[in-house]
Amino acid sequence: MRYEGAIYRPPSEANSLILQITIGCSHNRCTFCVSFLEKKFRERELAEIEEDIEEAARLLWGVDRVFLADGNAMVMHTEKLLSVLQKLYSTFPALERVGIYATPQDLLNKSGEELSALKKAGLGIVYLGVETGNEELLAWVRKGATRDEIITAGRRARAAGLVLSITVINGLGGMEKMSAHALDTATLLNRIDPEYLGLLTLMVCPGTPLARKVAKGEFAVPGPLEILAEIEMMLRPLEMSNCVFRCNHASNYLPLKGTLPRDKEKLLKILESVRLSGDMRQLRPEFLRAL
Ligand code: SF4
Repeated sequence: MRYEGAIYRPPSEANSLILQITIGCSHNRCTFCVSFLEKKFRERELAEIEEDIEEAARLLWGVDRVFLADGNAMVMHTEKLLSVLQKLYSTFPALERVGIYATPQDLLNKSGEELSALKKAGLGIVYLGVETGNEELLAWVRKGATRDEIITAGRRARAAGLVLSITVINGLGGMEKMSAHALDTATLLNRIDPEYLGLLTLMVCPGTPLARKVAKGEFAVPGPLEILAEIEMMLRPLEMSNCVFRCNHASNYLPLKGTLPRDKEKLLKILESVRLSGDMRQLRPEFLRAL
C-alpha cells in the first residue's frame, strides 16, 4: 500500500482500510483548512490503485469497510470510480461498505443517474463538509458553493440512496456572526435531512487566512461557553427525521452524542446546564483539543 503525506479520515472510519485514490483536495481554498496545503492535487492512475487493492488483499484478512481518500475523492470521474468500486468488491468478499469524502461541487458535477450508479456499485456513505449554512460565511471561507448549491448537492446524494454524513464547524462565524451561522445552518440541515450530523469546533491553524484575520483582530474566536450557546442555538430549530448526532470529535469542548429527534431535549438540557454552571472542568481543556 502506498500513501502520500498525512492521511485524513472521518472518526467513524477508524477501522476501515484507507485507499488513497486521489492526492490532496482539488478545491484546497477554504480559509480555515490546512489539511492538504502541502499536496498538489492529482488523481492516481487506475492501474496503481488496483495494485494497492491487490496488495491489501495479500496483507489483510476480512476487510469489510474501505474509505476512499484524500480530501475529495468524489471528484474522480464516475467511470473510474465505478471501476475502483468493482475492483474492491470483487477483491474483498466480506466488503460491506465504501465511504468517501465529497465537496458540494463534486456532487453537483455528477448527475442523479451517476450517483445512483455509484450507489448500486456499492458506494455506501458520503461525508460532506458543509461547515455553515450562512451564505455570507460560505463566501468568506471560500467554500466554493452557495447555500442553495449545498442543499441541492445534499438532496441529490440522498435521492440516489447514498447515506449522507454532514459536518459543520461551530465557531466559524466568530462572535459577530454566531447566531446567523447557527440559525442558517439549522435551516440548511432541515432542508437536507441527513442521516448523520457531526459537529466540529473551530481550531485556528497557523498559516491560514483565518489565522491572519485573528492576528489582525478582525475575527473574534468564541470561547468554550459561547460555543455551547451556539450549539444550543443550532440544535433547537433542527427538525431531523432520524439522524445520528455526534459532537465527540477531539476539537469539541463538550463530548455529546445522540439520535435526533429522540435525544434533542436531553442534549439541550446538558448543554444549558454546563453552560450556566460555567464549570470549565467539564470541558475539554484547550491543550487537549485537536483536529
Ligand atoms: S474542501 Fe475540505 S479538504 Fe478541501 S480545502 Fe475545503 S475544507 Fe479543506
